[in-house]
Amino acid sequence: MTAINRNRETRHIFGPVPSRRLGISLGVDIIPYKTCSLDCLYCECGRTTRLTSERQSFFPPQLVMDELKMTLPGIPHLDFITFSGSGEPTLNSDLGWFSTEIKKISAVPLAVLTNGTLMFREDVRRDLLGVDVVLPSLDAATAGGFSRINQPCPGLDVERIIAGLEIFRSEYPGKIWLEIFIVKGINDREEEIAALSQAVRRIAPDKIQLNTLDRPPAYSGIESADFRVLESIRDQWSDLPVEIIKRANRREEIRAFSSNLENSLLNTIRRRPLTIDDLAALTAKGEGELRQYLDILEKEKKIRPVIVGERIFYTAG
Ligand code: SF4
Repeated sequence: MTAINRNRETRHIFGPVPSRRLGISLGVDIIPYKTCSLDCLYCECGRTTRLTSERQSFFPPQLVMDELKMTLPGIPHLDFITFSGSGEPTLNSDLGWFSTEIKKISAVPLAVLTNGTLMFREDVRRDLLGVDVVLPSLDAATAGGFSRINQPCPGLDVERIIAGLEIFRSEYPGKIWLEIFIVKGINDREEEIAALSQAVRRIAPDKIQLNTLDRPPAYSGIESADFRVLESIRDQWSDLPVEIIKRANRREEIRAFSSNLENSLLNTIRRRPLTIDDLAALTAKGEGELRQYLDILEKEKKIRPVIVGERIFYTAG
């Protein structure tokens, strides 16, 4: 889930952050730190300290709304207000109330980052009906794979979770962008990918987003999947709307790497800040290919993304 850049005056609101999946996004965290129904090996927020599948009201909901009302007027543009943070948002039983109240004060689309484990519950599905985009994750479709990578709360069953996502798809008119996190040696085996392939066909999301580790994981010894593994899954699922959202970490990961293109991007950005659309128009390259070069340059702190008005610009680091 998203790393937290919390605002100084607020406990529950963070950002806005430039997000690869959601553009300029303001986070709303409605869950105490690391309260989750899973304890994923790769979690970038650390190990789960409270493993639970019980829904409850964690904070006075009006407190969160007051913080949001205080923050929103100072932000010129948002692509999304996103329920996310360092725990599982659907565990908060006030989620439906929040989405109704936020819609009353803002026209910004609402998104929820969720691990999808409680979608078999009718009340959870109902609470999500009011948001515009639901981004569930599903990393395994076998009982063994689910238990290995996600270390779930006792009582959670992966088949029931997939069935819940399937029902949600049939009820929900908004967009579903399903994230699959691939971890080397854990869920990248042929049988796991085959089971996931069947599950995603049942769920029929609007997008399938393949990802892997980008930051230090909760458990040591956990390694990111090679970019080529993600490309191979995308190629195998060529009939599905798959995209890779993993950030490139090394130049060797870029197919047909061109140092000329990299230098040209860097020199152009050094002269003036540009958006990815500007860069695509200038270089006649696709956004996906450009992002890989920008990832490397950002990692090396040669450039950085900044939010200016309604857009994300890349500027010299
Ligand atoms: S679902 Fe997994 S990755 Fe997301 S907060 Fe819980 S443990 Fe971390």
